[in-house]
Amino acid sequence: MKRSILLHPDPRLKKVAAPVVDVTDALRQLADDMLRAMYEAPGIGLAAPQVGVLDRLIVVDCVKAEGEAPRPMAMFNPEVIASSDEVNTYEEGCLSIPEVFGDVTRPEAVTVRWMDLNGAEQEETFDGLWATCVQHEIDHLEGKLFIDYLSGLKRQLITRKMVKLKRDRAREKA
Ligand code: ZN
Repeated sequence: MKRSILLHPDPRLKKVAAPVVDVTDALRQLADDMLRAMYEAPGIGLAAPQVGVLDRLIVVDCVKAEGEAPRPMAMFNPEVIASSDEVNTYEEGCLSIPEVFGDVTRPEAVTVRWMDLNGAEQEETFDGLWATCVQHEIDHLEGKLFIDYLSGLKRQLITRKMVKLKRDRAREKA
């Protein structure tokens, strides 16, 4: 099933997503759909609330180098269990806030625990872009967007720009 990505502002992007109890076939299908939507966008991460599903599921693939094999990952109930003291600042973007970028500072490395597509517990330490991406996506499960790290004024300007962009897109469709 083709999933469309919600654009900010949308109340569903501000909600806290619910923990996944069982990795059902329907959830595996959702993960598959989300990966497809993410690659198509293209992007390096997507969280279930961004397709309007309030379950704790994220998908990521931060392999960017040409010729390197893709590494699609689906994580249910992802949780940061340790973070480095060192921080990293990346210019972040978001598929729900197109054409907008902003510097966000986060821990440089994080250890994440999650449940994989088979319902098995996994744990891995990510750094660099992977660490930033995973933290950005986990934030989505808490109803938090990267623009929430920016100043209130910047956030207002971005939100106003997005309201206009959504209006323009709706008109194009009509
Ligand atoms: Zn995002």
